[in-house]
Amino acid sequence: MAKEYKNFIGGEWVDAASGERFENRNPADWEELVGTFPKSDERDVLKAVESAKKTLKDWSNMPIPKRGEILGRAGDIMVERKEEIAQVMTREMGKILKETRGDTQEGIDTAYYAFGEGRRLFGITTPSELPNKTIYTILKPIGIAGIISPWNFPMAIPTWKIFPALLTGNTVVFKPASDTPATANLFMEILDKAGVPKGVVNLVNGPGSKVGEAILKNPDVGVVSFTGSSLIGSRIAEVCGKTLKRVSLELGGKNPQIVMEDADMDLAIEGVLWGAFGTTGQRCTATSRLIIQESIHDKFMSMLVERAKKLKIGNGLNEETDMGPIINEAQMNKILNYIDIGKNEGATLIYGGERYTEGECSKGWFLTPTIFTDVKPDMRIAKEEIFGPVLSVIKVKDFDEAVKVANNVKYGLSSSIYTRNLLYAMKAIENLEAGITYINAPTIGAECHLPFGGVKNTGNGHREGGKWAYEIFSEIKTVYIDYSGKLQKAQIDTAVVK
Ligand code: NAP
Repeated sequence: MAKEYKNFIGGEWVDAASGERFENRNPADWEELVGTFPKSDERDVLKAVESAKKTLKDWSNMPIPKRGEILGRAGDIMVERKEEIAQVMTREMGKILKETRGDTQEGIDTAYYAFGEGRRLFGITTPSELPNKTIYTILKPIGIAGIISPWNFPMAIPTWKIFPALLTGNTVVFKPASDTPATANLFMEILDKAGVPKGVVNLVNGPGSKVGEAILKNPDVGVVSFTGSSLIGSRIAEVCGKTLKRVSLELGGKNPQIVMEDADMDLAIEGVLWGAFGTTGQRCTATSRLIIQESIHDKFMSMLVERAKKLKIGNGLNEETDMGPIINEAQMNKILNYIDIGKNEGATLIYGGERYTEGECSKGWFLTPTIFTDVKPDMRIAKEEIFGPVLSVIKVKDFDEAVKVANNVKYGLSSSIYTRNLLYAMKAIENLEAGITYINAPTIGAECHLPFGGVKNTGNGHREGGKWAYEIFSEIKTVYIDYSGKLQKAQIDTAVVK
């Protein structure tokens, strides 16, 4: 019998008010039921918000380094349980063990960053324009943070959000993606064990349309941090706008890898294979466009196809597997539909493009790695996020055309260029419209202490990672201390010309 998971509210493991449950199945083998989870609704969110409200004062009054120590302990427990977390994550999400270990490691790194930040959380001090006056800033919590996360990084993304929210003194109501609730459950167990006081973090499982919406609409929630599709992101901004909540949105991408004729070809091939087909292309930073100079196009493509053929497709629990399944049937059908769109638009399918059902894969949502050439910059497969192992290859004459094509999308998350020419590298850094640019490295590979996020429709200007994540969850208080003993008027008493 599959495990019956619960919500975590007020420090207790509880069922949904509805008493209903939903299933979570392994996308590599739909006969395997990972567990059943509470199908919650607004009533459960209200309880979670009440609990977050009740505990806010004590938690935000705890000295910040002490909060940091608790989060550091969470990192220690994640180190001890790393393999267990990776196995659970692979079973419910499908990506290969190497990657789920990496996903967990990102959570660990983020925990230790939070531990260190507990002894920093710097404001600024700066000179006053008036004598005998001290001015500085401090960071205060916003209050209750609503956290809504996607399924593709089931541990890393919740930790990017929840550790900074907690360190800055907020309490949390967390709704994970319905495809990856088991990893979220483990994360709650770890926070509890690490000593996060009961009620400070609350987990509510259930559909976005009910649980997510109830978080957005709750007047006591002060900040919402969301990672997911641009479609839902814009809905979130709309609902939260009504109550003037702070909203941080990390959304879709259509990331290009440019390859110039002077590039190290082998390196560029390694990069595009990892960027396009790692995590089965289900990363916001996945390489979905290869923009390549025409002089090397044919040779590069035949080398790339040879390598793509060798990728082993299968269950991510097998250490030999290179590429796991698609997350669910709906997403697989969406990708297959895009493959049809590409064919109908006149692109040439040079590899893959179909379901993969060999052996053990017959019971899962597997696709072959897919490569389209003759893609024109205005085709839908060149502009829309597919979120699967589909690479659209666009041929260009020169560097200027490459940058123009790269920027010809509504997204702007990650970007990459392979070249040995310093001028091209520097001009790419300057001109690519993206939050992240890699030189001679694939579009994926973010490190937790650097800002992460994008321009254009990829978000609304916030950055996760490093100290920037802490700004999302903080109010800045500006402090003026006047010890002159008299009324001093800024701008008036200080004017040079009176
Ligand atoms: P999604 O469909 O937008 O869902 C994301 C989360 O929002 C899930 O927890 C979902 O719940 C919830 N949700 C759905 N409808 C909602 C509503 N009306 N109100 C509130 N919450 C709602 O995205 P996804 O398919 O999980 O993830 C893939 C997308 O995430 C891609 O577009 C990818 O580019 C993006 N992504 C971006 C980044 C980044 O940092 N920029 C990182 C990773 C992924 P349910 O699961 O219950 O539907």
